[in-house]
Amino acid sequence: MSSNTMNSQDLVHVLLVSFPGQGHVNPLLRLGKILASTGLLVTFSAPESVGSSMRKANKNIDELTPVGDGMIRFEFFDDALSGDDDPRRADLGAYIRLLELHGKEAVNGIIKKHEKEGRPVSCLINNPFIPWVSDIAHALNIPNAVLWVQSCACFSAYYHYNYELAQFPTQSDPEIDVQLPSMPLLKHDEIPSFLHPHSPYSVLGKAILGQFKVLSKTFCVLVETFQELESEVIDYMSKFCLIKPIGPLFKNLKSSNSSIQGDFVKADDCIDYLNSKAPASVVYVSFGSVISLNQEQTNEIAYGLLSSGVSFLWVLRPPYPHLPPVVLPEDFLEKIGERGKIVQWCAQKEVLEHPSVAYFVTHCGWNSSLEAITTGVPVVAFPGWGDQVTNAKYLVDVLELGVRLSRGDQTEKTGVSRDRIQKCLKEAIGPKAAELKKNALKWKKAAEDAVAEGGSSDRNLKDFVDKIRGVSM
Ligand code: UDP
Repeated sequence: MSSNTMNSQDLVHVLLVSFPGQGHVNPLLRLGKILASTGLLVTFSAPESVGSSMRKANKNIDELTPVGDGMIRFEFFDDALSGDDDPRRADLGAYIRLLELHGKEAVNGIIKKHEKEGRPVSCLINNPFIPWVSDIAHALNIPNAVLWVQSCACFSAYYHYNYELAQFPTQSDPEIDVQLPSMPLLKHDEIPSFLHPHSPYSVLGKAILGQFKVLSKTFCVLVETFQELESEVIDYMSKFCLIKPIGPLFKNLKSSNSSIQGDFVKADDCIDYLNSKAPASVVYVSFGSVISLNQEQTNEIAYGLLSSGVSFLWVLRPPYPHLPPVVLPEDFLEKIGERGKIVQWCAQKEVLEHPSVAYFVTHCGWNSSLEAITTGVPVVAFPGWGDQVTNAKYLVDVLELGVRLSRGDQTEKTGVSRDRIQKCLKEAIGPKAAELKKNALKWKKAAEDAVAEGGSSDRNLKDFVDKIRGVSM
């Protein structure tokens, strides 16, 4: 059936519900596009704040859009906040409760409406932080899958913590190492930091653990990783639940060949700048969509970049409205001249794929980590919190494609100094560079094979789609 003649009513319907964060929307929307391309109708749902940001930055967000053999559409719901600067957004614990309260009713309503209109939902897929979606699916007898948007190693850490299968740091013993099966020994500051008793963000740990409490309601855990990258821990965790590694989703042509994009902010143009630079000469610096640098850390990074002499592209997002504004040091822009470019947001995929980019100073969010691993770009690991500290451990010590700049929020209370930044940047382009690049290119090739026709992630995705179709017949 061609996309011109197909009727959305004839297609098997899958509903995707996302937590409102760029790092959550990106992988779930990529999955949505892949599922649609196989001939499914995909409805992508998230709070209205996501909808209004996506509409401002992208085209086609309110249209029913053909993707391959299927279609994708969006349906955003009210989370009772008045806008991006609603002060209740700053209190994450309160926001997560508010989202559950309003989201539950809204998602139930969306499902019932579609059923009435002849497009019943055959499968409900959510990402972590909104485990109540699994409760809805269970209550309505709709198959539910979770898209785990972190590594399988972190899935294992949360799983072992939740079911008390391993010893983790406690208030009285906060510095013990953690040994989990099929994983390297993790120091106390290398476990997902929300699980640490001293974490100021335990509310986020609780929200993630919520998904493990309803795991029995989920028939499958799709993981944004690939078999070859984490084979031992994937095999081990498969003893406990059905794990399907299906990534890297952004490498999958079915997700990248579409006009639908999920950016919350319109990307600044960086490609002309990168084109003007020599191959492998530019350092890309970005700390993702959540971390806000304070004034002191911004100064240290600026001076570290300045004194290291490297060319750079730095994504410096303005802080959230409830935080103090941050400015660049005086004369900084004049001093760097053509040597550096600062933007508020970029098309990270295109930047990482650009031949001028030598390496990536990253906060080690899982999307950014996987995007670096699978574009063959070595990293300088500057983790902050949560899974970022575990990802940094893997990037540097296990995959050996990076150097470490910081250890994250358990130890770096004072921030990272300009001297350390300069030293680390020099180390990454120094004698270690060739070895790091060699390892990075090895993982790039492995990722390409995983998503290619017949590769491990491609087979897992096909099995998953067959399962959804089977259920709906
Ligand atoms: N990203 C982007 N442009 C930027 C910065 C980030 O497109 O200027 C994307 C990046 O490619 C990734 C996501 O935003 O897909 C960030 O997710 P990640 O898990 O790395 O970090 P988080 O934002 O959740 O901390």
